[in-house]
Amino acid sequence: MGSPLSEFISSSEPFSYSKEFKPMNPEEFRDKAHKAVDFITDYYKNVETFPVLSQVQPGYLKNLLPETPPNTPESFDTILRDVQNVIIPGMTHWQSPNFFAYFPATISSAAFVGEMLCTCFNAVGFNWIASPAATELEMVVMDWLATMLHLPKSFMFSGSGGGVLQSTTSESILCTLVAARDRVLNEIGVEHVWKLVVYGSDQTHSTYKKACKLAGIDPRNIRSISTRVEDEFSLSPIALREVIEADLKEGLVPVYLCVTTGTTSTTAVDPIKELAEVASKYHIWVHVDAAYGGSACICPEYRHFLKGIEKVDSLSLSPHKWLLSYLDCCCLWIKSPKLFVDALSTNPEYLRNKHSESDSVVSYKDWQVGTGRRFKSLRLWFIIRSYGVENLQNHIRADIQMAITFEKLVRSDVKFEIVVPRRFSLVCFRLKQLNGFDSNCTEFVNKMLLERVNSTGQVYLTHTVVGGIYMLRFAVGATLTEERHVISAWELIKEMANTMVKVDS
Ligand SMILES: *Cc1c(COP(=O)(O)O)cnc(C)c1O
Repeated sequence: MGSPLSEFISSSEPFSYSKEFKPMNPEEFRDKAHKAVDFITDYYKNVETFPVLSQVQPGYLKNLLPETPPNTPESFDTILRDVQNVIIPGMTHWQSPNFFAYFPATISSAAFVGEMLCTCFNAVGFNWIASPAATELEMVVMDWLATMLHLPKSFMFSGSGGGVLQSTTSESILCTLVAARDRVLNEIGVEHVWKLVVYGSDQTHSTYKKACKLAGIDPRNIRSISTRVEDEFSLSPIALREVIEADLKEGLVPVYLCVTTGTTSTTAVDPIKELAEVASKYHIWVHVDAAYGGSACICPEYRHFLKGIEKVDSLSLSPHKWLLSYLDCCCLWIKSPKLFVDALSTNPEYLRNKHSESDSVVSYKDWQVGTGRRFKSLRLWFIIRSYGVENLQNHIRADIQMAITFEKLVRSDVKFEIVVPRRFSLVCFRLKQLNGFDSNCTEFVNKMLLERVNSTGQVYLTHTVVGGIYMLRFAVGATLTEERHVISAWELIKEMANTMVKVDS
């Protein structure tokens, strides 16, 4: 006895606590939540006045906050004031109408309210009985969205498949890959796991490799097939077949192909139908990653990007990118829920109940990595009901229209060029290579242009390199963006370019 720990324990024993601390006092909540809503409303109204790209240096926050936590309560107003003074300067404002970087993270008042209700219930809907509405609404909403995308019945609960809300594309790929892996290993035996090979292109999202590693695929067996500028950076079915044949000759076992509808760098679209036809000859699981581009396919005029979808095994699409849902929300549809559940189900005693035992209900814990899950379908339900399919289609069209406006402005200036064809609302462009200058020099000038434009704080855009070409990405679609913002952004880019490059006319 006498050690610091035993003193701590014995000294804390004599106390008894009355329950005076009430973390959820409904009336106090009303008061705070109203203040928070006012704060949020003002933020959205004023977001345009902040520098889009945060101007702080690494470590800025440490110096502004105390080293130790407060022992006694601080007022809500004090904390909210610190959000304004300390947090906001360290934010890169994704909701600014002048945010054109990466892909947009779209929002809506309907989704926000749906999110509030999801948070309100805080239900942990791992199985049906844990909140029947949470499971059943998710099933309804996933079928609704499947209908909006004209997916075949084989992906719907009203047919033989079904959908689930994941957090991210990464998890969608991981879960389907594990199902595909187990389907094959059940046939050939787990000791052959080292033989499994997976396929994608050099434009497949980087998270694919991570998912493959997590799923136990030998990193040497991850094929990243080169794309070409002539194919507009889409995956060639001929190249795919060649690589598969070479692997078969080595005694390897093809297991999974990730096809992308709208790649992250340039929104290239892989030919689903042709690739699935190749893959089906070898019994390869085909997954379509339509994280960003998939949302456009709710419009009949863009549905052709999913041509051949009936031939694949799974499809994921993230409404948190382009369909007005907040983060995080990734829809995953699969054709064979049984294979999925075989790979991912758990059956602990403490979650057993007669409904789940009877197999008459979906246990969504068997469709994802974790056990606990939020009631996220509320957000999508509010979006679809509040706006209707027609307005959601018009939202996509309006963004694409603004991207077309930007594209035309770029084309109207001889110093610039569009590098790859625009398909959705992303425009990839650059300052042209001038006579007498090499590609390094062109890259340098474009990098400098990007840096100068972003350092103004007036807009934020990002870059990529594809096929060895450095290019700027202008991604239209932040929810508050209007055409005037797109035009001002172009004026700024043009002005900066004029100070850097002179072209004789
Ligand atoms: C954004 C994106 C991803 C990554 O999605 P997460 O949900 O962040 O995992 C994957 N694939 C594509 C094509 C993307 O555009």
